Amino acid sequence: MRGQQAFVIGGFVRDRYLRRPSTDIDIMVTGSGIDIASELGKRLKTNVTVFKNFGTAMLRYQGMEVEFVGARKESYRAESRKPIVEDGTLADDQLRRDFTINALAWSLNKENYGELIDPFGGMEDLENCIIRTPCDPDRTFSDDPLRMMRAVRFASQLGFDIEERTFDAIARNKERIKIVSKERIATELNKIVLSPRPSIGFELLDLTGLLPLVFPEMAALKGVEKRGVHAHKDNFVHTLKVLDNVALTSDDLWLRWAAILHDIGKPQTKGYDPKVGWTFHGHEVVGSNMVPAIFRALRLPLNEKMKFVRKLVFLHLRPIVLSEEEVTDSAVRRLLFEAGDDIEALMTLCEADITSGIESKVKRYLRNFAIVRRKLAEIEEKDRVRNFQPPVTGELIMETYGIGPCREVGTIKSQIKEAILDGRIGNDYGQAYALMEEIAAGLGLKKK
Ligand code: ATP
Ligand code: MG
Repeated sequence: MRGQQAFVIGGFVRDRYLRRPSTDIDIMVTGSGIDIASELGKRLKTNVTVFKNFGTAMLRYQGMEVEFVGARKESYRAESRKPIVEDGTLADDQLRRDFTINALAWSLNKENYGELIDPFGGMEDLENCIIRTPCDPDRTFSDDPLRMMRAVRFASQLGFDIEERTFDAIARNKERIKIVSKERIATELNKIVLSPRPSIGFELLDLTGLLPLVFPEMAALKGVEKRGVHAHKDNFVHTLKVLDNVALTSDDLWLRWAAILHDIGKPQTKGYDPKVGWTFHGHEVVGSNMVPAIFRALRLPLNEKMKFVRKLVFLHLRPIVLSEEEVTDSAVRRLLFEAGDDIEALMTLCEADITSGIESKVKRYLRNFAIVRRKLAEIEEKDRVRNFQPPVTGELIMETYGIGPCREVGTIKSQIKEAILDGRIGNDYGQAYALMEEIAAGLGLKKK
């Protein structure tokens, strides 16, 4: 449009220099973003979505989401992270950006097409792997405290350091995080969890003092206690090691959350026995029971993903037990039955849970887990208990004995299930039917 100027700005420019893939481009224009987007849409013969209230427009081109936004000048009030917005210049717009590396812009204008406009030394920070605010960091974080989570998230995602003054300002302004919605915090937390080495982000949350404010249960894992010769390990440090281990082999957000939460019940179950030292009896049960409330508090979904995490936390000690003892078919069958299709994920979590510093110990555990994995495959091949469907159904029992739903039906069903899991009978109709007749006779039931 005549007289208007346009720039590519923000994440896309940053990610280009970092050679990271991106799916969205932000184009900042002086004046309205809508007219330019509409004009371009016409030329490219593609639809333009207009957000009139925001004065922005979006079109898709070659798999990219291209957003057009008018240059903005922002000012903040104390009680809200929503700024007062006015039209502005390129310089105003760069000044409102959170970090120097996010304020980089490329000109799309005839006179200096392709030129990098970098008023705050963002390029240098990019080369030195540094997160720094363009303006006074106290102001930046107080204005919009979400930026504190973003700083930690970028450090974790990109493996960058937070510059000292910026870091200190986060520590000073941490309490301001309370005005940020839980949903926005969850988005950043999930990005930290999905980082190549998520421990970076959680350590920074801890060091800045944000962790107890955004995720108190995890902060409670911190610390070591000693009595006499007995000291327990720091469960925060251990958890981060397990999380990093899982991150090496899986990109699954929820498996990573299971790693974060696998020992979350430890603080509540901690006990001391002078004979054996520190104990955490039942921490897998307490921990798995904490999962729904934690998911609710963090605004994570309360669906099958939550159930998956809860299940993995509950089962996380089982394969280790199998690897320590002589592995019986029956124990393997029971684990397969309880874990179902999540058995693979559970094994990944358990292997990641070996964080001993003693090499020989780690090797021995991993060898034992290899045996457990072989056994699991063998038994599944033979007995198919992973997605166990009882060969004799409740309907068949009721039909055979002419009874309605009652306690006897449940008894027969569960005894058949136990017999199959114990390996007393095979997982097949004939043997299960015969056992049904035997149990029914014992209960005094007569066939119709
Ligand atoms: P990603 O897309 O990986 O989340 P991004 O940097 O592109 O990273 P977006 O949320 O897409 O982040 O925002 C695009 C740009 O808008 C940022 O690069 C930054 O310049 C600016 N920005 C986003 N959120 C804020 C904020 N809270 N304060 C200041 N500037 C922000
Ligand atoms: Mg982006």
